[in-house]
Amino acid sequence: MLDELRELYQEVILDHGRNPRNCRRPEDANRKARGHNPMCGDALVVHLTVDEQDIVQDAAFEGQGCAISLASASLMTEILKGKTKAQARDLFESFHAMCTRPDFDPEAEQADPDALERLQVLAGVREFPVRVNCATLAWHTMVAAMAGQGDVTTE
Ligand code: ZN
Repeated sequence: MLDELRELYQEVILDHGRNPRNCRRPEDANRKARGHNPMCGDALVVHLTVDEQDIVQDAAFEGQGCAISLASASLMTEILKGKTKAQARDLFESFHAMCTRPDFDPEAEQADPDALERLQVLAGVREFPVRVNCATLAWHTMVAAMAGQGDVTTE
């Protein structure tokens, strides 16, 4: 159990949790959604700047939450830049599978392998079902923002 906890709170997560990247509101953002994880109290707003070719020019977030939710949001905003809407959706699907499926195989996924490798630090939440909502909140919120939905909750 202790080893698993240690694995879950790897240095990368602690670093991004303490110093989240892209924690701001871009002036030119044109998509936004609010995400809430009532189980933990994580509350995020995801801002996206998507251009006419459906490419994410900027991704950022604001809000409060546990280290896992903030680290996930921080990594997500770094990874999304330059991705198309479809690639972002693939990443969401693959990341969700990574967090929930014990037999997850990154090589069988469509999503960008480099991005999946970076996200691997969060895969430890598989062992802690309550934490899955923390890790995926930013992603659910990003998908809602892309779809033009305002609010999303993990329940
Ligand atoms: Zn949380």
